[in-house]
Amino acid sequence: MEIWRQKGSSWEDVKHANVAVVLSAIRRFGPISRTELAELTDLTSGTITNVTSRLLELGLISEAGQTASRGGRKRVLLKLREEACVAIGIEISRQHVFGVLANLNGKVVSRAEEATEPGEGPVRTIARVVQMIDRFKEEAAGLECPVIGAGIGVPGPVKTDEGIVTTPPNFPGWRWIRLKDQVESRSGLDVLIDDDARTAALGEAWFGAGRDVESLVYMSVGTGIGAGVVVEGRLYQGAHGLAGQIGHASVDPFGARCECGNVGCLELFASSPGIVQLARKRLQEGEPSVLHEYEKAGDLTINRICESAEAGDLVAASVMETACTYLGTGVANVINVYDPQKIVLGGSLVRAYEMLVDRVRAIARERSFAHGGETPQIVRSQLGKEASALGAVALVLERFFADPLAAMSKAQVGEASKS
Ligand SMILES: [Zn+2]
Repeated sequence: MEIWRQKGSSWEDVKHANVAVVLSAIRRFGPISRTELAELTDLTSGTITNVTSRLLELGLISEAGQTASRGGRKRVLLKLREEACVAIGIEISRQHVFGVLANLNGKVVSRAEEATEPGEGPVRTIARVVQMIDRFKEEAAGLECPVIGAGIGVPGPVKTDEGIVTTPPNFPGWRWIRLKDQVESRSGLDVLIDDDARTAALGEAWFGAGRDVESLVYMSVGTGIGAGVVVEGRLYQGAHGLAGQIGHASVDPFGARCECGNVGCLELFASSPGIVQLARKRLQEGEPSVLHEYEKAGDLTINRICESAEAGDLVAASVMETACTYLGTGVANVINVYDPQKIVLGGSLVRAYEMLVDRVRAIARERSFAHGGETPQIVRSQLGKEASALGAVALVLERFFADPLAAMSKAQVGEASKS
């Protein structure tokens, strides 16, 4: 995200780079005067004048009043015109397709959600995604607002450069699917894709619990456990695009086989299906618990276990405590490896079980390295179920702000070809 101080080699590169530097500075620090921009970016006042008039012409910034006079001349303030363009963000999960249309500051203009059939496979789901994008494009046309692209968060692992969903577990039919190409060719938009836990991490970093920090790890805890690592404002992919697979870090080297091929993965102990398994085992020991009734009725679900734990059922509470100990250990491992400023916990389980964050926090503090009590803050997701879709918007915005001139010329062409 820190775009300033990049240098271009040709005159054209320099122009593009300067526009990117100035627009990013206005986005982050606006309303801001031209003088302050020159100080902040180390560009000459002549360059700032040229670049800001180009940005005004493109409609990407607007004037926002003046600074109070301090004896000298009043200075005109500039701010991002957040409504100048929109981006589409889509989350594909195993249960639904959820999408947002958002402006340049990530403010949501419109939302849409559609449940998917269990195991319906990629053909059907991709058709839903394309239809949703088409509806958002119509809305954007109604607002006379160019669409600068679409981002998609999808169960990983994902090859982001090629836009391929490779081998997500428990997602029937999704094997080596060229998601980016398929959606691009049918929607006419530029498409970026990434693993859903990563897009959620980027969403929290740009618009949620991580706005005030440069590094964070987002952990999504639900039917699976995934993580996204943000370093200096950008997603860390790893050499093979697999960074952050904490759900498949072994916490029991003699444990059961996981679908990923490893054994004793964290996901087997602290995801929703893992916790249901844990409860089932405890019930076989014969202790009295309200959970026996649910098991008989075929209704032993994660929600029942969370409810019962909160209502004081001892077996349910002890199962949740065990799960939190595993999860807290996973968080401590993440802290020891990445040393982030913040850990953000999200996903359906964090929403369902009120006490989870406190317990995980206590375990993680106890078990991670710290200089004199300096540990990362462990907080709840702020964006909730919208994190991944908003992060998909951030993928598009990241590319837009890296080269606004290139992005605008494409967006304009898109507008012209439509009419
Ligand atoms: Zn695994």
